[in-house]
Amino acid sequence: MFKKILVACRGEIAMRVIRCCQEMGIETVQAYSEADRGSLPVQFATENVCIGPPAASGSYLNIPAVIAAAKAYHCQAIHPGYGFLSENADFAEACRENGIVMIGPSAEVIRRMGDKQSARMLMKKNDVPVVPGSDGILKNVQEAEQIAEKIGYPVLLKATAGGGGRGMRIAAEASELEKAYEEAQAEALAAFGNGDLYLEKLIVSPRHIEVQILGDSQGHLLTLGERDCSIQRRNQKLIEEAPAMILNKHQRAALYKAAFRAGKAVNYTSVGTVEFVLSPDGSFYFIEMNTRIQVEHTVTEMVTGIDLCREQIRVAAGLPVSFRQSDVVIRGHAIECRVNAENPAKNFQPSPGTVRFLHFPAGFGVRCESAMYNGCTISPYYDSLIAKIIVCAPTRLQAIRKMRMALEEMTVEGPDTNINFLYLIMFDQNYLLGNFDTLFLSRDTGKLLNWDSRSQRRKR
Ligand code: ADP
Repeated sequence: MFKKILVACRGEIAMRVIRCCQEMGIETVQAYSEADRGSLPVQFATENVCIGPPAASGSYLNIPAVIAAAKAYHCQAIHPGYGFLSENADFAEACRENGIVMIGPSAEVIRRMGDKQSARMLMKKNDVPVVPGSDGILKNVQEAEQIAEKIGYPVLLKATAGGGGRGMRIAAEASELEKAYEEAQAEALAAFGNGDLYLEKLIVSPRHIEVQILGDSQGHLLTLGERDCSIQRRNQKLIEEAPAMILNKHQRAALYKAAFRAGKAVNYTSVGTVEFVLSPDGSFYFIEMNTRIQVEHTVTEMVTGIDLCREQIRVAAGLPVSFRQSDVVIRGHAIECRVNAENPAKNFQPSPGTVRFLHFPAGFGVRCESAMYNGCTISPYYDSLIAKIIVCAPTRLQAIRKMRMALEEMTVEGPDTNINFLYLIMFDQNYLLGNFDTLFLSRDTGKLLNWDSRSQRRKR
């Protein structure tokens, strides 16, 4: 097992890794940017090292600086968390060249899956259902038109280098295609330096369902249940839950089989997620694979009792997965809410600043993952996720009740947060009924915000 790991991420996931390492008897070195000097992970890690300026391009995304820090502090491995360098194949390669283990899959697997169009083709070859669409990168808008005509509108143009919902545009009909093509391409070029696009049929009213997988270098590959991540805002997940109540026994079994084939196709050797869209007609299609630990891994942990962070570190060190597929049993229902420092009433504008007072919910079946403390500063330089509240209860409705209580109890004074917005979703009848798709928030945000401002007025 590793003696010392460099933690090359920040915020709640850095704390998650540090806590896990402490339990495993592994020392940690927190790599931090100048903006994070006073952050909780810096205080909790065994050692810490500044790797650059606040802007991520100079620090958390700076491959030479991260590698140099790992070497200077004699770390055998680097944990990249999620975001930043976690799905960067060049980084994984640089680690290998320097004799350091990147905690994740190999550079080759990251590269194959990171290019979404080639991942799509690989899946198709391995009998994993993919959304009907183009069989390669689109040469031009004319080719897009021909394919769209064949599969039928509406269609979705996607950047092969895409991520975080960027580089994606819908064309509802032929007249919209050219504009969608140009916009998607421009956005992808600006965000990823790669404007290559492919095309998929738009699945109308889909659920986002994903399967957690875990593999090791001995050839074991396991599936650890699914998550429903359909509550999204602008293709960014906000609320996730496990299991997905919409699936019946047969769909679930078929989904696990497809996820298993996806993992086997690349001999997957870490924690990973195979993402699908589920159509209202019950068919599901692969959309992409994430080759890292995900924000929402916690809901899977709550219903399986398996520590995914620990398994991820173990398999990276060459150990086998510590249990068998038959040991994986899903118990109860877990929900995660992402608390962001943002103002829903101001179009979700980020709200950095100092946290003057902080109180986390607690109690049976309530879990909080955060790097906040009383008096800490929320930096404007990074993602606005400041805490994850996770609850687990025997049934979904009980979990929802628990989440309401947890959100009611949580107090963050200083920055604006989306806590009230999340709270209102926990009372939405369609959410309660499980009657939602990925467009739930884009339809209902206005309604929820109105409720919120009414309740604020009453309070005053
Ligand atoms: P990214 O890597 O940018 O997150 P994804 O391919 O994972 O992009 O898609 C993000 C979200 O967009 C999905 O969660 C889903 O809600 C939606 N989506 C993706 N592909 C389709 C599709 N073919 N039809 C309908 N919705 C889709």
